[in-house]
Amino acid sequence: MNAEALAAPDPRIPSIERVMACPALESTCRRHGRTIVVQALREVTAEAKARVAAGTPVQDDEALAVQATRRVEQWMRQGPRRVFNLTGTVLHTNLGRAPMPEAAMAAIAGAAGACDLEFDLVAGNRGERDWRVEQLLQRLTGADGAVVVNNNAAAALLVLNTFAMGKDVVISRGELPEIGGSLHLANITRRAGARLREVGTAKRTHMGEYEENIVAHAAMLIKVSTGNYDIRGFTAAVADAAAAVHRHGLLMYSELGSGALIDLRLFGLPYEPTPEDSLGAGADLVSLCGDKLLGGPQAGIILGRRELIARIQRNPLLRALRLDKLRLAALGAVLRAYADPSTVRDKLPVLRLLSRPAESIAASAEELRPAVERALASQGVNVEAVACESQAGSGAHALTRLPSTALRLAWSAATRKINPGPIARQLRSLDVPVIGRIEKNALLLDLRCLEPVDHDLFLAQLRQTRNQFR
Ligand SMILES: *Cc1c(COP(=O)(O)O)cnc(C)c1O
Repeated sequence: MNAEALAAPDPRIPSIERVMACPALESTCRRHGRTIVVQALREVTAEAKARVAAGTPVQDDEALAVQATRRVEQWMRQGPRRVFNLTGTVLHTNLGRAPMPEAAMAAIAGAAGACDLEFDLVAGNRGERDWRVEQLLQRLTGADGAVVVNNNAAAALLVLNTFAMGKDVVISRGELPEIGGSLHLANITRRAGARLREVGTAKRTHMGEYEENIVAHAAMLIKVSTGNYDIRGFTAAVADAAAAVHRHGLLMYSELGSGALIDLRLFGLPYEPTPEDSLGAGADLVSLCGDKLLGGPQAGIILGRRELIARIQRNPLLRALRLDKLRLAALGAVLRAYADPSTVRDKLPVLRLLSRPAESIAASAEELRPAVERALASQGVNVEAVACESQAGSGAHALTRLPSTALRLAWSAATRKINPGPIARQLRSLDVPVIGRIEKNALLLDLRCLEPVDHDLFLAQLRQTRNQFR
């Protein structure tokens, strides 16, 4: 059918006014207002018209009203909303990365209305915006300057634009392809007004004459944290690059990405580079994400010497990249949790989940398995506890394999079904969606990130599935 014919009214399709009079739409209008219901109905009737033109029977007014209601409810559904992340990837970029502590949520609520964002309550006049988190960062890392921005990509953009605009930036060849999208850093460097030059080989860290020549004409060297380091390997790699860079009077910028704020070995986890280690080994500037191993909101944190940070603070781009009051409040709450290293693990979900003992996860599995099987039994789903491996995710390299336990959901033989897709889809449609991972004809629910306090809520969700599988 051509566009003109589609635009012409079809006598078989009811008018918007007529369907709007359906009692079924009354409560939808009361809840969401007439305007959006009419918009939904326009879409629904247009689609009905195309279907009728293609030969399917005309639907009655009631059916169209129900479709419109469903559409409005989908549009008006709150999001992003809570889910159970049982994928086994603790810092899942698609699932909001680090889960924040209660203290951060309370801080967000406290700053949501009028607040002293840029107001000095003692002096009674204008105050500094970021001083609280910057002071905390200085105290926690030993850096004498700190600045916070929208995310780590913004941190890189700002560092490169401040110190390397119109100049070359050097990176070791082995480091570029491993970053979450190698293009990402190359593109950001270009938009910062700088050029990325790769030197060396993946294996070698010492620079030859050729590389020294390139370095001599650049403004900065970026060192991206990649691969599995122990602390000696990491500080040696940074110190080695810093020596070459400083011989030529250049700056060295260490992009830690998922870097941990403190030494994770305190919690029985493998070593991950920290800003303190980078700065101590000779980096001039370091940046890291707020919402990865640090355990806070999306943010980029830049640390370094006071005079370098002051130059960044004078860059007009900072105004476009700075944090809003809600995230400043949340980041402050998370950083305060680090003040006492002996309690930080209990206070921050990320550290708690990553260092959760395998026995604790296995105990959860044992406790939950019979209840989950009961909740899903009428659909013919079998539930087994199986050993599996979780990962930190988001480029935390050392923590790639963490022993864990999953509930393995698969169709029982009697159903003669194999594809676990419908099980996964059903669990995604719950009030608090449950997200697992599909592996070998089963849905695995890795229990690392399901803490005992949430067991009841989780089981209540699964009970909603009764008789809902299609
Ligand atoms: C995660 C990551 C980034 C991106 O950080 P965002 O905060 O998402 O911008 C950049 N570099 C490294 C090394 C990372 O791990």
